[in-house]
Amino acid sequence: MTLATAQQEMKLRRIFIKNQMPEQLTGLSRMSHNILWSWMPQVAELFRSIDPAQFVALNYNPVALLEGLAPARLDELAADKDFLKRLRRAEKAFDAYLAEPMKKDLPRVAYFSMEYGLHISLKLYSGGLGVLAGDYLKEASDSNVDLFAVGLLYRYGYFNQGLSMNGDQIHHYPAQKFTQLPVKPVRAEDGNWLKVPVTIQGRIVQAKVWSLAIGRINLYLLDTDHEDNGPDDRALTHMLYGGDNEHRLKQEILLGIGGVRAIEAMGLQPDIYHLNEGHAGFLSLERLKNYVAAGLSFAEAREMVRASSLYTTHTPVPAGHDHFPEYLMRGYLYNYAADLGLEWGDFMALGRLHPDDAGEDFNMSKLSIRLSQRVNGVSKLHGEVSQEMFTSLYPGYTAEEVHIGYVTNSVHYPSWIADSMHELFSTEFGNDWVRDQSNKDIWRNVHKIDNKVLADTRHTLKVRLLDYVKAKLQVDMRRRGESPRMTFDVLSKINEKSLVLGFARRFATYKRATLLFTNRDRLRELVNREDQPVLFLFAGKAHPADQGGQDLIRQIVQISKEPDFAGKIIFLEDYNMEMAKLLTQGVDIWLNTPTRPLEASGTSGMKAALNGSVNFSVLDGWWAEGYRPDAGWALPLERTYDDQHMQNELDAETMYSILEDEIVPTYFNRDEDGVSAEWMSYVKQIIAEVAPTFTMKRMMDDYYERFYLPLGKSAAAVRKDDMQPGKSYAAWKEDTANKWHGIETIETHTLDTVNHALPVGEPFSAELKLATNGIEADHLVLEALFYQRVNEEKIVLRRTQAFKLKEQTDSTATYTISIDPHLAGVYEYGFRLRPSHDMMPHAQDLPLVYWV
Ligand SMILES: *Cc1c(COP(=O)(O)O)cnc(C)c1O
Repeated sequence: MTLATAQQEMKLRRIFIKNQMPEQLTGLSRMSHNILWSWMPQVAELFRSIDPAQFVALNYNPVALLEGLAPARLDELAADKDFLKRLRRAEKAFDAYLAEPMKKDLPRVAYFSMEYGLHISLKLYSGGLGVLAGDYLKEASDSNVDLFAVGLLYRYGYFNQGLSMNGDQIHHYPAQKFTQLPVKPVRAEDGNWLKVPVTIQGRIVQAKVWSLAIGRINLYLLDTDHEDNGPDDRALTHMLYGGDNEHRLKQEILLGIGGVRAIEAMGLQPDIYHLNEGHAGFLSLERLKNYVAAGLSFAEAREMVRASSLYTTHTPVPAGHDHFPEYLMRGYLYNYAADLGLEWGDFMALGRLHPDDAGEDFNMSKLSIRLSQRVNGVSKLHGEVSQEMFTSLYPGYTAEEVHIGYVTNSVHYPSWIADSMHELFSTEFGNDWVRDQSNKDIWRNVHKIDNKVLADTRHTLKVRLLDYVKAKLQVDMRRRGESPRMTFDVLSKINEKSLVLGFARRFATYKRATLLFTNRDRLRELVNREDQPVLFLFAGKAHPADQGGQDLIRQIVQISKEPDFAGKIIFLEDYNMEMAKLLTQGVDIWLNTPTRPLEASGTSGMKAALNGSVNFSVLDGWWAEGYRPDAGWALPLERTYDDQHMQNELDAETMYSILEDEIVPTYFNRDEDGVSAEWMSYVKQIIAEVAPTFTMKRMMDDYYERFYLPLGKSAAAVRKDDMQPGKSYAAWKEDTANKWHGIETIETHTLDTVNHALPVGEPFSAELKLATNGIEADHLVLEALFYQRVNEEKIVLRRTQAFKLKEQTDSTATYTISIDPHLAGVYEYGFRLRPSHDMMPHAQDLPLVYWV
């Protein structure tokens, strides 16, 4: 036979057969391409109803769902009167939302972040930082403000977590199909796909620009994974937080520098740049470069950039801030020094604490803080910790004087509230109340809801959670290879009458996920009470490089298999936004046990609070602000032991005591209706008194009031008249800095406080004469400061008063003061001279001081 030819080989060609939406159904496709659908329950429900099982299987992704629908099903839907009616109604609400005009007269904000947690089907996030950014963008849309965002479009994103039978974390990286995401290409003027060039080690890498609609606003995403680029460069946008430090550097160059270029190419012209974490810090370099290219000096350019930048820091641990060694910086950003008109050493100094320390790495938070006029932490406590952390940048000032402020993080109500809870609230909270969601008076109407009705609604959410847990365990345990007997044992012990506690978040060691297991005997007793069963649910991913975090997961998985703990301690694989929803809505108690003060804010506890899940947490981050004794429980504030082991042991014993003596008895103290009135009082109080403060509306209002509006003014002030004010402010700063070291003390007349005490009520007076080296007295402020010593390292400012200028000459200024300190006790005081200018937003905008 001689028939064997090439024609025998399978010969296949590719064709994409695009679903043709029947005319009546095109609205589905349109709505699936704006993530707004995810926080409009009626639209989400519409998608789900098309094929509930498939919707879940596709990670609740409506684009994928519609793409995969059989033509017959489409015809069926197109003929389904009821479905079409619901579709029309949904479209009407959707379009009405989109049609509302944007608020006027607000500065336009460009928001930069490395990650965005918008929906489970968009793998652009790892954890809390991303979810916060995602929630913020949704609120920007709801609040109708002038804001757009910039980020990276990852092919693989952050990993999906699997577990081995032993509890070893397994990392899966399924690729995203961009055609199944609600993203679309941004077109250049010529109609081609917009691409922006970024130089990486001398190579030009082209980043495609995509846009993702989030209600009324846009998130622009850069993507290098396409045929214009070589394999290494394509990998730039593969993984979120993957690879080594050098890879991170490249990604940050892409985000910051590429991001600014994309904004320019689109002609967006923001007034303000908001850096969500130091990852975005390089954006300021690119902006500097543009100003220098337009003819400004470096100092002038820096003024323009600073006056329009806000940097939000999220990490209270210095090691958590990205930093790059000099050789890497040299390899990637050497040309920027010349472009900015700087010597290389001066360029590196932008990211160093000690400008002259050639061994110091280039630190992204130092860069960001130097090139941003305003800086904030993400809770009150974290603001204070950040002040401490950055005090060394401002010699002559104590931490509490450092200009860093705070905006406490929050959550987007429509994204995290259970539908059933929202319906219940809406019966008592009036019409359209969500627009006024940070108003406590509205939320206090929760007390009008009948206890039994509220308890039943909460119980239904718990049952839904436990059904999900059981279904998930069945699949996951089989895949891990657990025996059917073990699986059956665990499932049969899951009891919906239990008090259910949840702990889910990133498994970083400081979060102390295993604190609960410090005393196993006590825990065993607690979870196994006959009539008061208790169940703990755990979930969370550890970073692939974090062995310590992965050890904690392994420990919990192993404990969960011991006979006494089976069905009482459960670890759920692959924490994500969908699971976070089910958990925070369904548990009775949300638990958090970080080492204080390392939890900058934490947001999952707020999601729980909205839904009436009561918090039990260390008084750290947001809970230090949110906690009230009638609305939850707290582990104490103060640190008792220096030794962390001892502290852990103490905290664990305190935790058991609170659980045994307060939480469990309160929960199970039921009346004949099966309701614990005392428990419902906690539920209602956390909803009424805590939840409204931690809604995104409040956070957005805070950002505008504390940062965007003042910054918008500074930005406009330096920019007007062809940037003249900015240039002269820069010139004044340079001149003042040059003259500053020539300041000298000529005479001091003051009370001899070494030998004399000052009686209370008696004024303290002083007269000082200074040589000002040509700096005008108008531009100087001399202050007397009274501090009290707390311990060897720490002093606290108790009183400040400015001196009066008595007389001045060309070269001197004489000041007097008479101050009644109104204080008794031992103080330390001093006289501090600092520069002053009416364009200065805060003292450290030019951090020069002279202590007399
Ligand atoms: C809300 C959320 C977080 C943040 O949790 P914290 O309490 O801030 O640690 C992390 N991951 C996911 C998936 C979330 O939804």
